[in-house]
Amino acid sequence: MFVSKNLNINTKNHLTIGGCDTVALAEKYGTPLYVMDEDLIRENCRLYRDSIDRFYNGNGLVLYANKAFCSLAMCRIINEESLGMDVVSGGELYTALKAGFPAEKIYFHGNNKTPDELEMALKHRVGRIVVDHFSELELLNQLASKTGQVADILFRIKPGIDAHTHSYVMTGQIDSKFGVALETGEAFEIIRKAHEMEHVRVVGVHCHIGSQIFDLKPFEQAANVMMQFIAEVKEKLGFTIEELNLGGGYGIQYTPGDHPIAYDKYMEAVSRVVKESAEKHSVALPKILMEPGRSIAAPAGITLYTIGAVKEIPNVRKYVSVDGGMCDNPRYILYESEYDFQLANKAGDPKTEVVTIAGRCCESGDLLGKDISLQKAQSGDLLAVLATGAYNYSMASHYNRIPNPAVVMIKNGTDRLVVRRESYDDLIKNDLI
Ligand SMILES: *Cc1c(COP(=O)(O)O)cnc(C)c1O
Repeated sequence: MFVSKNLNINTKNHLTIGGCDTVALAEKYGTPLYVMDEDLIRENCRLYRDSIDRFYNGNGLVLYANKAFCSLAMCRIINEESLGMDVVSGGELYTALKAGFPAEKIYFHGNNKTPDELEMALKHRVGRIVVDHFSELELLNQLASKTGQVADILFRIKPGIDAHTHSYVMTGQIDSKFGVALETGEAFEIIRKAHEMEHVRVVGVHCHIGSQIFDLKPFEQAANVMMQFIAEVKEKLGFTIEELNLGGGYGIQYTPGDHPIAYDKYMEAVSRVVKESAEKHSVALPKILMEPGRSIAAPAGITLYTIGAVKEIPNVRKYVSVDGGMCDNPRYILYESEYDFQLANKAGDPKTEVVTIAGRCCESGDLLGKDISLQKAQSGDLLAVLATGAYNYSMASHYNRIPNPAVVMIKNGTDRLVVRRESYDDLIKNDLI
């Protein structure tokens, strides 16, 4: 009935998440409020983890892409589920380490890591650094030589695959700021150079073709292209690439019109391609890494807002305004993303209206949805936006000096605060006069 299976309607006609009444949650914690279902996060982790066991003899690791939703509580959950982690900044790394996440299971990504961040990664001995380009390779080798370390590295490769998704989240094509290209020979050249360096060890290759992808094909193609490259490296340089990291990007259901593929199907498909290719080229089976972010966090989360102004412009449209907007969910203004909306206090009512959900920020583009169908809304109603567990809290800003909402986690039908709501004092805490 809803896009996420952890949602339901109780006898009060209220929307529930993980068995908790959303109206009660809004009363207890205020709005806007991010609510995450820990049970569903864990279930999603297990689905990915089990798929590696089932289809690839357990010879792999699932890395949660921390940028989707990063907090101490989330890092702890991911660790308890025995996943690894992909981080893309010193801040994400810091959060993971503070949560007690094992450094050796952390992969450090980023197309423009700063020297400080590389030093931080070396100091804490993160498992792998995913090198993006030549000058980063040289810098890393130099920094590691200062401390006498040998850094285990992967290379971010552009496999030249066109994943059919929004151009802002398409990353595998040659015209991308991420990584080195295969077809120009740049990828081969960087590995040849790295192989001769003393303070890095080339462990693997990585690609990430995009996000919110609903098709197995581009993943199979990427796996195939990357395996050919592994074979080429073996043949021409005589050494074995041990790890093949195929990135994330698995699509989820935001609206009833989205038809995602079951998560384990990805592993089933790519492990078949990898095994066939390894046999064909007589190379050893690499360890496979996958990096789901959105598909672990997004379906587990909703955002609750209180409806304020309702403005009907005759023959034009009806604006329903909420107490948040692009400051807590910038995905509409970035990508015109679509969502499923529900009036949480009238969840079982039929959707009889077509309205536009407006945020409270000073931008006309600050909408959460345009011409969406909704139950008849009045000021004071509670609006739930579904599947907002990824790239919402993590993309929140302080535009208009609006404090970031709190995050509540639900486990076994019990709620707990995992990120406090920001106060006005939090907003000025670094200001100087
Ligand atoms: C963003 C990103 C991911 C996660 O992508 P999702 O679409 O959230 O699954 C994984 N790996 C890398 C390198 C990324 O940049």
